[in-house]
Amino acid sequence: MGVDLGGTWVRVVLSDRRGRFVKRAKERIDTSNPEAISRQIEKVVLFLCHRLGIEVAVLGGVGIASAGPLIQERGVLINPTNMPFEQVSLTKPISEELKIPAYLINDCAGAALGEKTFGAAKGLDNYVYVTIGTGIGGGAIVNGTLLLGKDGNAHEIGHLTIDYSGRLTCGCGKKGHWEAYCSGKNIPNFVRMRFEELDKNVVEGSLLFEKTEGDMSKLTAACLFDAARNRDGLSLQLVEEIGVLNAIGFANVINLYDPSLITVGGSVTLKNKKAIFSPIRVHVKDYAVNRLPEIRVTPLGKDAGLCGAVAAVIKYLS
Ligand SMILES: [Zn+2]
Repeated sequence: MGVDLGGTWVRVVLSDRRGRFVKRAKERIDTSNPEAISRQIEKVVLFLCHRLGIEVAVLGGVGIASAGPLIQERGVLINPTNMPFEQVSLTKPISEELKIPAYLINDCAGAALGEKTFGAAKGLDNYVYVTIGTGIGGGAIVNGTLLLGKDGNAHEIGHLTIDYSGRLTCGCGKKGHWEAYCSGKNIPNFVRMRFEELDKNVVEGSLLFEKTEGDMSKLTAACLFDAARNRDGLSLQLVEEIGVLNAIGFANVINLYDPSLITVGGSVTLKNKKAIFSPIRVHVKDYAVNRLPEIRVTPLGKDAGLCGAVAAVIKYLS
């Protein structure tokens, strides 16, 4: 059973060992108290088993892919960004209640493992998964080993510093991080910052400004990419600027891990493939010192996290 614990939804899937999904369920995540989340996962797992007429005991385990920070060995989330709790214990209550093993993995490390187990990185020893969605994250396999680190957070690439002048502050509280400029949640901050720097007439004459009706709080990443698709000059320029910053981020990843393939997922990427990939392809060579890898969209699409959760169970079973 694979569980993708997102900011809003908990998605659960029953999969076979080859990563073929048999049955899915999705619920709005219950954050009423720190124990509610593990209870909700147990409930959905039991529901899916019941629907399929199988016993929980036949499952190999429950894999949970979640955004960090987390302590993988203890199966707990620590100060999770989307929940108002210091700690959320997951694997212990779930394995005690269901009497099968439960594993926790960072969602992006999981996605890397999922890509290696079921997707485009099969057979590759050096591979990186990058997600550009609400946030920016990654997972790296180097010399065939999934990098985890002391707590399971060895790949917080969204918090690589790409702007030493630190013009924008990241959700983590630190300045100049990649995610602060280029993630779906923070692209509006980047655009607002550039609006203040750019010529007022250019800004106010743009389709992007028109779309927000001059109310900067209405600005979203989707507004920007839509306006760029409609050939709005200012929006095209800003998408290109974000693309250069993404190219710096990707070059850092290439210089760090020396992969032969990078696959890219996340909602911002999946909805705006050309706008995201074109500037990276042009500019990454300006910053990368290592031989360039193939960079392409993940074939796992929106299911990268779920595939990772399932792959985590399979990894620990073998
Ligand atoms: Zn950060």
